[in-house]
Amino acid sequence: MVKFLLIAFIFIGCGVGPKEPASGIYVYDVKPAFQPYVDAFINNSIGRGEVSIEHLTIEFGALGLDRLGECSIYVDRNPKIIINAKYWYEIDDNDKEVLLFHELGHCILRRKHNSDFTGFYPDSIMYPHVIGKYYKNNEEAYIDELYSVRNDWEESFFLTGNKTFSCGVSHGNN
Ligand SMILES: [Zn+2]
Repeated sequence: MVKFLLIAFIFIGCGVGPKEPASGIYVYDVKPAFQPYVDAFINNSIGRGEVSIEHLTIEFGALGLDRLGECSIYVDRNPKIIINAKYWYEIDDNDKEVLLFHELGHCILRRKHNSDFTGFYPDSIMYPHVIGKYYKNNEEAYIDELYSVRNDWEESFFLTGNKTFSCGVSHGNN
């Protein structure tokens, strides 16, 4: 009998396939203000390694004064982007697009920050600060670069648990 219970326990504990999530923690809940940018992000991916988004939360929230947005990736629920409500109505459409693409770069493409510069230009939308003015002048190249890198997270991510990327406001136009 003891042996039987042990076998039963091991079987349940090591079930094959992904664990079923509790209902409600994998959702699509993108607030209407952000949906056009998510659509553009998906459209831009066509021909660049197309992405589809089934589970995602994007909402306004209160972040620190120097933060424009934040992406949190969880091991047991859908990714969540918070946009600093204080700044959303102060930045232009170009900056809004870059901000959303940057956060989606974290949360969907699973990219980390890239602080590299070539000459005077940041190499990537994944620069830690929103790069609105650079993006405006070189949009196609930045879009190509955005989708060219995926999953460059630290390999230890799933061992260390949930992760949040907090992304800066561009005081110096960078
Ligand atoms: Zn970031």
